[in-house]
Amino acid sequence: MSELRLAGIIRESIVDGPGIRFVVFAQGCPHHCFECHNPDSWSFEGGFLATPKQIIEEMSKNPLLKGLTLSGGEPFCQSAAMAELAQAAHDKGFDVITYTGFTFEELLEKSLSSAEVLNLLKNTDVLIDGPFIKEFKSYDLNFRGSYNQRIIDVKMSLKKGVAVLMHI
Ligand code: SF4
Repeated sequence: MSELRLAGIIRESIVDGPGIRFVVFAQGCPHHCFECHNPDSWSFEGGFLATPKQIIEEMSKNPLLKGLTLSGGEPFCQSAAMAELAQAAHDKGFDVITYTGFTFEELLEKSLSSAEVLNLLKNTDVLIDGPFIKEFKSYDLNFRGSYNQRIIDVKMSLKKGVAVLMHI
């Protein structure tokens, strides 16, 4: 079974997507956005290890949870293990939101040569994409830090081959 390298977890969050959500923060991020909210997550060597099974067991203890949010760090730098976790969450009836510093278009390009990236996209319901850009920062945006970031319906986007935006 794959292992996840995590910067942290939050067992109940109401700010990382709709409803009460379990949030896992990937350890390791290549984007290094100026004024990142979580620079401690940049190193690919820090954090702690956990298995998808352990995370799902934790989630299953809480009947109030609506879904799982993958955040970071950069979840797509651990696509195989994150996809395994997302798939297991779906199997338990949870929805999955994934934050990424890559754009959807960049991930689509990567998915042509990476089955893991494609698998994580396929197991994500909602993708919130793009780096945090300080000049576009706003406190008025639901679930996002800056205006350039988009809320994307992944299933529709994969079907059409272009980013399809949605409201949550
Ligand atoms: S993608 Fe997220 S975690 Fe990575 S540097 Fe940017 S804001 Fe920080």
